[in-house]
Amino acid sequence: MQRRQFLGLLGATAATAVLGKPAQAGPKHFTGYPDSYGVLFDATRCIGCRRCEAGCNRVNHLPAPARPFDDLSVLDTKRRTDGRTFTVVNRYETAKGIVYRKNQCQHCLEPACASSCFVAAYDKTPQGAVTWNEKVCVGCRYCMIACPFDIPTFEYWDPLAPKIMKCHLCYPHITAGKLRVPGCVGACPTEALVYGRRADLIREARQRFHLFPGRYLDHIYGEHEMGGTNWLYISGVPFSQIGLREDLGVTPAPEFTSGALAAVPIIAAAWPALLLGIYAISQAKDKAARQEKREALKEALAKAKAECDAELAKVKAKAEADKKAAIEREVKKALEEAAKAQAAKEEGE
Ligand code: SF4
Ligand code: SF4
Repeated sequence: MQRRQFLGLLGATAATAVLGKPAQAGPKHFTGYPDSYGVLFDATRCIGCRRCEAGCNRVNHLPAPARPFDDLSVLDTKRRTDGRTFTVVNRYETAKGIVYRKNQCQHCLEPACASSCFVAAYDKTPQGAVTWNEKVCVGCRYCMIACPFDIPTFEYWDPLAPKIMKCHLCYPHITAGKLRVPGCVGACPTEALVYGRRADLIREARQRFHLFPGRYLDHIYGEHEMGGTNWLYISGVPFSQIGLREDLGVTPAPEFTSGALAAVPIIAAAWPALLLGIYAISQAKDKAARQEKREALKEALAKAKAECDAELAKVKAKAEADKKAAIEREVKKALEEAAKAQAAKEEGE
């Protein structure tokens, strides 16, 4: 199968999940963690200086951008994150004048990217970050289609072993004790970014609403959108005016995307072959990396098979129980009808 055909097949599958009838929820659901951390972005404080972009670039050792971070002319064009950037700031002309907004992974409480990934390369950590494991990823790009915020991107310049690129909330640096707050937050000169426990950030946002009447809309974007996110926004203008989707609703994305594979029988049946196909396409040049990937894939396949077998056993057991109950109901009904007929006959005699 050609790479393009294969990606087309995945695209068609995703379209079914996104555009068609919502697929039934899969066996796995993320629930969000009550003590998780996140970031509150205050659009009324952002001055569009791009220092958050520079801070992110520095701590994550990302490639230098084509134009330096102090070149604000890049704000003349709307940008999105790409294979070399985890975050971008954009400028918006709004009813209340110019407003800036930083964009990056929203770290959904129930991430669509994770529920759409059939080798479980994504992880929703108890600390709040949604992380991605390059050793497990097979490069299918299903997560790119599933994310409602268009966040995951690939290193397109590396066709043999492209890596997913997206913000990880500086999870590796914070858990290793190298940073106290994410790189972007530490670099922001105006405190437009605040890092903290999600519950505290929500309280902080409400306090700002209370302290500065008329400055903000009474809405914390991300408190409920798509089931909630660990990245939160407050603003003085409608969120749609600063490039945030307001049509997403409050249902977690996995309710639409999770189980999408299970809902497409051909995918479920062909799963192992499909995985190996993806693996063959995305295998790395380097032998050691290839071996590592093979091991990780083997492990992921064994895990997926065990989960499938367990689900099938449950379905089978339920079907058996339903069948038995139905037979018992029918037998009981037949006996009752026979008894009634016998009684009627005896009355007639
Ligand atoms: S914004 Fe997209 S990439 Fe980030 S956690 Fe949510 S679904 Fe995943
Ligand atoms: S560093 Fe702060 S003020 Fe500057 S663009 Fe980023 S969020 Fe806005």
